[in-house]
Amino acid sequence: MNKPFKTLDDLGDIRGKKALVRVDLNVPMVDGAVSDDTRIRAALPTIQELTDRGAIVLLLSHFGRPTGGKNPQMSLSLITSALERVLGRGVMFIPECAGEGAAAGVAMLAPGDVAVLENTRFEPGEETNDPTLIASMAAIGDFYVNDAFSAAHRAHASTAGLARALPAYAGRAMERELDALDAALGNPERPVAAVVGGAKVSSKLDVLRHLVVKVDHLIIGGGMANTFLAARGVDVGQSLCEHDLTGTAELILDAADRANCTVHLPYDVVVATAFAANPASLRTVNVHEVAADEMILDIGPAATEALADVLKTCRTLVWNGPLGAFETPPFDTATVALARTAAALTREGSLVSVAGGGDTVSALNHASVEPDFTFVSTAGGAFLEWMEGKQLPGVAALRS
Ligand code: ADP
Ligand code: MG
Repeated sequence: MNKPFKTLDDLGDIRGKKALVRVDLNVPMVDGAVSDDTRIRAALPTIQELTDRGAIVLLLSHFGRPTGGKNPQMSLSLITSALERVLGRGVMFIPECAGEGAAAGVAMLAPGDVAVLENTRFEPGEETNDPTLIASMAAIGDFYVNDAFSAAHRAHASTAGLARALPAYAGRAMERELDALDAALGNPERPVAAVVGGAKVSSKLDVLRHLVVKVDHLIIGGGMANTFLAARGVDVGQSLCEHDLTGTAELILDAADRANCTVHLPYDVVVATAFAANPASLRTVNVHEVAADEMILDIGPAATEALADVLKTCRTLVWNGPLGAFETPPFDTATVALARTAAALTREGSLVSVAGGGDTVSALNHASVEPDFTFVSTAGGAFLEWMEGKQLPGVAALRS
C-alpha cells in the first residue's frame, strides 16, 4: 500500500548508519524506578528492526518538564536500566543529545548498538524548534525515525524540526497509529459512529465540532450529555452540567443536522441523590423524570441497547470518553456493555474500532476489551488533537 509517509520499508542498506530515533521514554517513575514500561515496550519493534539491520540506534526523547536546563531528576540516565531490561541487551547512555559531546559518545558505538541520549528538553532550543539545535542534532545522525505519535502534537526540534533536516521515516508504532487513525476518520468505511463521553462539553468542543461533519452517528454520553439534554429543555437536576454552554450545544446540534449526522442522546439514565458506590437512592428513569435532587451518573439500559443496535449498522467506530462515571459502580454499566458490543463486532470483523483518551483507556481496560479493539491509542493529548481534526506538526513533517 502506498502511504503518505515513508516507513522503515523505504530504508535501503542501513548497516553502520546512524539512526536518530525519536521515541517517547517519558515514563512514570515511583521511588526512582520505572513504574509502567508500556511506552518503552511500544518502541521495541522499531529499535529491534533497526539494530537487526545493523544500524546504530540513537534514542531521543523528552522526560518530564524540566524548566531552565539540566535537572538530574529528569535525566534519561534514570531509565537506561529499564530500557536494557525491555530490550534484553546493553544500552549506552550519552549525556548530551546534540553537538560535539554527543558525537564523541556516538563515535564509540558499533553497528547494531543502541544508545539513549540525554533528555531533549535540557536543550533550550528543543521546545522553540531552534534551527541551531536542529542542525547540531542532525549532525550526529544519518537519518531520522519518528516513533513517538504521543509527542507529535508538539512542533519541537526532536519531533518536527529534525524531520526536515534529515531523511525522515515513520517508525513501526507511529506507522501503526497513523494507519489506525486513517482507517477511523481519515478514510473510513461507512457508516461511521463516534462515541464522545467524559465529564465536560467544554473540554471537547473542538472534538464535537469536527466529528459532526465527519461521522454518520454521534453518540453523546457522560457528563457532557447533560449539557445537551439541558439544551433540549430537559431538567437535569443536580447533574454535572455546563448551563452556560447550552447555546453552544444547540449550535453543535444544528451543525450535525446540516451535515446529516444523527446525534444520539440517552433517553433513559441512571440517577442517584449522592455520588457513591451502589447508593441506596439509585434509580433508572426516563430523562424527563430526573428529580430536582438527583444527578445523572450513567446512561440507562434502554439507551445502551439502542446504541448497540446503532453500532451493529456501522462499519467504523471512534471512541473518546466514558458514558458514565465508570470509576464508581454501578455507573460503569453502560460503558462496559457498549464496549463489549464494540469488541464483539470487531472480533466478528464487521467493525473497525479505534479508541483513545486517558480515562477511555482505563475504562476499556476495566471492561477487558482492549485487546479486541482494532486500536487503542495511549497518546493522550496528541490523540485528542487528532480527534479535533488538527494537523499534528510531527506527523505533517513526515508527510512532506
Ligand atoms: P478521557 O480522559 O478519556 O478523554 P474525560 O477525561 O473527558 O475522558 O472524562 C472522563 C471522566 O468523565 C471520568 O472521570 C468520568 O467519571 C467522568 N464522567 C462520565 N460521566 C459522568 C457523569 N454523568 N457525571 C460526572 N462525571 C462523569
Ligand atoms: Mg481524562
